[in-house]
Amino acid sequence: EATTNLYFTTAADIQHLLKSRPKFSHKGLYGHALLLCGGFGKMGAAVLAARACMRAGVGLLTVHAPAIGYAILQNSVPEAMALSDKHKNHIANLPSDIEKYNVIGVGPGMGTERVTKTAIGQLLATCKQPLVLDADAINIIAGSEKLKNQLRNHEVILTPHPKEFERLIGKSKNDYDRLQDMLEFCREYSCYIVLKGSQTAIGTPEGNLYFNTTGNAGMATGGTGDVLTGIITALVAQKYTLEEACILGVYLHGLAADLALPDVGKVSMIASDLIDYLPKAFLQVA
Ligand code: AMP
Ligand code: MG
Repeated sequence: EATTNLYFTTAADIQHLLKSRPKFSHKGLYGHALLLCGGFGKMGAAVLAARACMRAGVGLLTVHAPAIGYAILQNSVPEAMALSDKHKNHIANLPSDIEKYNVIGVGPGMGTERVTKTAIGQLLATCKQPLVLDADAINIIAGSEKLKNQLRNHEVILTPHPKEFERLIGKSKNDYDRLQDMLEFCREYSCYIVLKGSQTAIGTPEGNLYFNTTGNAGMATGGTGDVLTGIITALVAQKYTLEEACILGVYLHGLAADLALPDVGKVSMIASDLIDYLPKAFLQVA
């Protein structure tokens, strides 16, 4: 068995990883991200991911969503460009010129309709850029050995919560075994996994294991995972390595919740609060 390198992410690590923005900056330096997300009744997930992606410093953002989501996105995220799928309620096709995006974040609010499964199959068969796969993108891949095997051909981050993890990798005997199973999957499929929970863990293909040290129980509410997808996608767009993007994203996401805590409390905290406090999180570690 490969040895595991175990780390706890500290504020000093984050400070060290974060890049500064030079005076001559222009948006082209910070990447163009594509988000494939949203579905009928779940456009909120796409809006949360998109707003978080903007707040995490992406240069340009395009969101591809079902036709019913087009006006919603243009109204609630004016900073992002929107593309309409041919399908009214679900994602069923990929945007043209998909090569132009530096990173593709996929999954929040997307559903697992057959047409969407086909689109994900096409994505994995054709796209070359790094992928951040969450939520229903994970559920779709979990249901197909063929798609799972295609993960090997990509630079990919998967961000499952425990239920999605179980669908993808199976049931583990206990918490310790689950981490071993995660690392084995990371190695076998050469991918990065962010196993989300009250103690989020990050696994890498080389067998590194990182435990995050920020976050609180106020985050146990709908939409917080979609915010994380947007943040990590933005960081990959900005040319952080996949490992750095996982570590930074998870830390800043939790720190935003910790900074929101004195003002909103654990009971009232909602996913949008994490986006609102993300600027303070960046300021604190800069
Ligand atoms: P999701 O289930 O996809 O919406 O993701 C939930 C997000 O909230 C993940 O980033 C979890 O790590 C985080 N989270 C949920 N519950 C807790 C908790 N009790 N303490 C800290 N973070 C949590
Ligand atoms: Mg989720």
